[in-house]
Amino acid sequence: VANVSELLEVAGAQSVVLQHVRPLPPAPLPLNAAALGLILAEDVHSDLDMPPYEKALMDGYAVRAADLPEGRGELTVIEEVTAGRTPAKRVQAGQATRIMTGAPMPDGADAVIMVERCQTLDSTGVRIEDRPPKPGQNVLPRGREMRRGDCVIRAGRRLRPQEFGVLATVGRDRALVHPAPRVAVVSTGDEIVEATQTPGPSQIRNGNGPMILAQVARAGGVPLSLGIARDRRENLLPLIGEGLKADVFLLSGGVSAGKLDLVPEVLRELGVRPHFHRIRMKPGKPLFFGTHEQTMVFGLPGNPVSAFVCFELFVRPALRRLCGAKDAGPPRVRSKLAQDFSARNDRPTYHPAWLDQAEDGSWRVRASAWFGSPDLRGLLQANALLELPSGDLQWREGEWLDVIRVDQVL
Ligand code: AMP
Ligand code: MG
Repeated sequence: VANVSELLEVAGAQSVVLQHVRPLPPAPLPLNAAALGLILAEDVHSDLDMPPYEKALMDGYAVRAADLPEGRGELTVIEEVTAGRTPAKRVQAGQATRIMTGAPMPDGADAVIMVERCQTLDSTGVRIEDRPPKPGQNVLPRGREMRRGDCVIRAGRRLRPQEFGVLATVGRDRALVHPAPRVAVVSTGDEIVEATQTPGPSQIRNGNGPMILAQVARAGGVPLSLGIARDRRENLLPLIGEGLKADVFLLSGGVSAGKLDLVPEVLRELGVRPHFHRIRMKPGKPLFFGTHEQTMVFGLPGNPVSAFVCFELFVRPALRRLCGAKDAGPPRVRSKLAQDFSARNDRPTYHPAWLDQAEDGSWRVRASAWFGSPDLRGLLQANALLELPSGDLQWREGEWLDVIRVDQVL
């Protein structure tokens, strides 16, 4: 273990976090809405040919293409087949079967003439006026979509509605997936009250709790709120004990150098092994990271924007990996600056920004108005973070910058 009080660079701290990710064992879960977005942990094979029979793709008449070399003629209708039924008769020379979309093709027929090109003559005759049919026209061959034994979805794929459809098609209502990690959240602070309360003269409402719980859900975790802890050892102890049962435990506040910043000390007392505590970045210098058995523990700074940014840079990548994603992120794009911008920072800084695409599809970004880590409201006008080096620097419109995207769901 490196010296915990050492000031780490962001990239170094991110790799320390990722080194401590212990993937959750894959579980066979039902394929319902709760599985949406989870990552498949097995290769899935088809148990059948799809379609399982040669299938009509149009309402019309199943014919022998050879009977209609000019595309026109009169045929004898021998049978009617709707979807879900099996044709009983073979189509011979001069014959046709009335057929509906989705129904199996009768033996002998090799094409379907769409009903709009056909005129019923009497109960047994049809007149066709169409272009000359090609064998296979409007017919889906058996196994065209997939063959029995084909690997239709590989392990590592994220479950979207399309995957649900294909999994059901091959007979699956469960699949082996990486389960969503359970993430417990505690907000600490003697001054913090619930959103529904009117704060007293020295109190503020718990903005961090709901924000972090929502960040957890967006990152694919299952959020579990443990409420507010006071800055007292006896109050922190039971809540931390509870939080350590989760896969990931997040605390906000109480991690810097103040008199009542008890979080790191109480975590250690309960057996959490610290890995780092300080990062050279703005906002959010104090960020505690430790582990306890299988649980990853993050003490996020209390400042709301610091908490938000530290989550995106360190917690979200860990959650992505726990969810089975190969790419931990955070997702970066190179973007042109849409507006001159200057900044003076003594540490690498993550500045809220608005990223969008110009009409030609190229990325453009502008820094949001923001006065620093207590300015949570400034984040309302942001969907990204500018990654700025330290120094007294100026950028001109049109220059390229690295931007971290935070708003996309996956
Ligand atoms: P701390 O890290 O506990 O020293 O808190 C730093 C700053 O963040 C203080 O101004 C706190 O009032 C504020 N803060 C801490 N926790 C929260 C919270 N849950 N919601 C909103 N602000 C908070
Ligand atoms: Mg505090």
